Amino acid sequence: MRLLPAVLLLLALPAWGQALPDLGGGGAEGLSPQMERRIGESIMRDIRFREPNYLDDPELIDYLGTLGGRLTQAAAGARQDFEFFAIREQTINAFALPGGFIGVHTGLISAAESESEVAAVLAHEVAHVTQRHIARMLGQQQQMQLPVLAAIAAAILLGRARPDLAQGAIAAASGAAIQTQLSYSRDYEREADRIGFQALEAAGYDPRAMATFFEKMQRGSRASDDGSVPGYLRTHPVTVERIADAQNRAASLPYKQHPDSTDFQLVRAKLRADVGEPRETVSYFQTAVKEKRYPSEAGARYGLTAALLRAKRAKEADAEMPRLRAAGGAGPMVEGLAGRVKQALGDRAGAVAVLGEARKRYPNSRPLLYAHAEALQEAGKTAEAGTLLTDSVRLHPRDPRLHQLQAKNYAALGKRAAQHQSQAEVYALHGSLPAAIEQLQLARSAGDGDFYQNSVIDARLKELRTLHSEELKDQKK
Ligand SMILES: [Zn+2]
Repeated sequence: MRLLPAVLLLLALPAWGQALPDLGGGGAEGLSPQMERRIGESIMRDIRFREPNYLDDPELIDYLGTLGGRLTQAAAGARQDFEFFAIREQTINAFALPGGFIGVHTGLISAAESESEVAAVLAHEVAHVTQRHIARMLGQQQQMQLPVLAAIAAAILLGRARPDLAQGAIAAASGAAIQTQLSYSRDYEREADRIGFQALEAAGYDPRAMATFFEKMQRGSRASDDGSVPGYLRTHPVTVERIADAQNRAASLPYKQHPDSTDFQLVRAKLRADVGEPRETVSYFQTAVKEKRYPSEAGARYGLTAALLRAKRAKEADAEMPRLRAAGGAGPMVEGLAGRVKQALGDRAGAVAVLGEARKRYPNSRPLLYAHAEALQEAGKTAEAGTLLTDSVRLHPRDPRLHQLQAKNYAALGKRAAQHQSQAEVYALHGSLPAAIEQLQLARSAGDGDFYQNSVIDARLKELRTLHSEELKDQKK
């Protein structure tokens, strides 16, 4: 039933229904970029707030954003914004939503043997977006009724067939129709491979990784006894032809190796440390370290430290930190872990100190900034956290997580009007204008704003109401 809310949300967009007749003539054009973005945002909201496996981990999101950013900068014609996010699922999958939102299953990162393999899959997804495949697929469905169209959209989006979708409003629709529309066409696949390959190569990754990973997935699908096909293969059928094409393209290029980044090893270790029974996970990493069975010692020691934390063995985790650093473990993720170790030891001042120092070394790390602000809040240094957040929001006004932390800070200070104001910005940045407007109304009626603050709230309220009515108008076009 997980997907049903997404479908209902789509159904709740009356505008989409009204826009359908326009799609009839321009099937090749597909949905307008604005409509595409709006549909993507509504599904993202649903994933963020309702999907239990949505992995709201700033470090992982930061990693995917950096990797994805290298690809989108290299990709021709990638002018739009992209947002990469993670779903905690062991299946190998990645999927693109309308509007440039790209989801990655943690299983894909775990199954990949090199960073270039992850990059190859992401490059392919980015190409589906830049080539407007999703918009065109949805645009071609004009003969379908809205409920079916919405179900198809949601199914494509999350890259998996969901028989449970055939409920309620969708019960009338034929399940077979959804099934046949679920995968990208061969032409789209070929194009996404070709364009994705160019981006992969231009971004400096190993271009052979595309063929290698396709082969691996195809082998994996044959090996499974229950006949289950990995989600990725269901939406992006891998054929012998696709593998051969990828091999031929790579063969025509000079040999180029791409060393995996330390962050790739750390991210993989972090994900691995998070699965299984904590005690077993600790011994898995202990064995790996002892027998030197690892692609990177820093990764294995990071995993061991993280697993010890999860097993509530904070002192042992603390003792591991110097060994992790000696093994070459460095960077924002290692400092973030050091901060979590201090928190687990109950050393709040120590966490603030570690993270404050780390931010001097890595001033551009957003995950460290969040962790530092949270550590200040937990240490009761609300005023200091407030200054940090106010400065940071000024620098990064489009970062919803900073506004969220600021809302929490105002709540701790008992500043209710300001709290709702910050919360409004969180919703506005997630594309949810009605919820943002409601928060501003709450801010206005909180009663603790002064004249100046109330005028700011009124002005913002007016602005968002105008935006919202424009949005409604556009949808009626
Ligand atoms: Zn594809």
